[in-house]
Amino acid sequence: MGLTGGCMCGAVRYELQSAPFDCGWCHCRSCQLSSGSPAMVFASVPNDDLIWTQGGDKVRSVVSSSFGHRDFCGECGTPFLMKVDHQPETVDFSVATLDEPGTIAPGYHIFWSAKLDWFNPSDALPRHDKFRPNTRGLEGTEPPA
Ligand SMILES: [Zn+2]
Ligand SMILES: [Zn+2]
Repeated sequence: MGLTGGCMCGAVRYELQSAPFDCGWCHCRSCQLSSGSPAMVFASVPNDDLIWTQGGDKVRSVVSSSFGHRDFCGECGTPFLMKVDHQPETVDFSVATLDEPGTIAPGYHIFWSAKLDWFNPSDALPRHDKFRPNTRGLEGTEPPA
């Protein structure tokens, strides 16, 4: 059995069928608005490896940028995941929604340029103004704005 998670109200539950990878902070404006927080932490799994085990019919989707959408609990609003067009094979889920969110640690920061002035993480992780230079699906292309 893999890692499990769910939303604040308990209506929606999910399970991961493989170990997450590429865990990192995102400080972009969409993450701030989606979460109501200074930043979010995501990690990736292959699309089919995030399984809704309860309340999948309550999951709602919203277009969140020119290149992606986000899924959240339609009952309580908890943000579950982000899907971006340049990584069609994977889904980025919100690490804080895991039942044991401390089990995965972020390894980098992206969209540092949008970080709030009063939010000052003291870690030594790499900080990238926008996407990471080696972002899957964006090699050799102009990243989406
Ligand atoms: Zn909920
Ligand atoms: Zn973001």
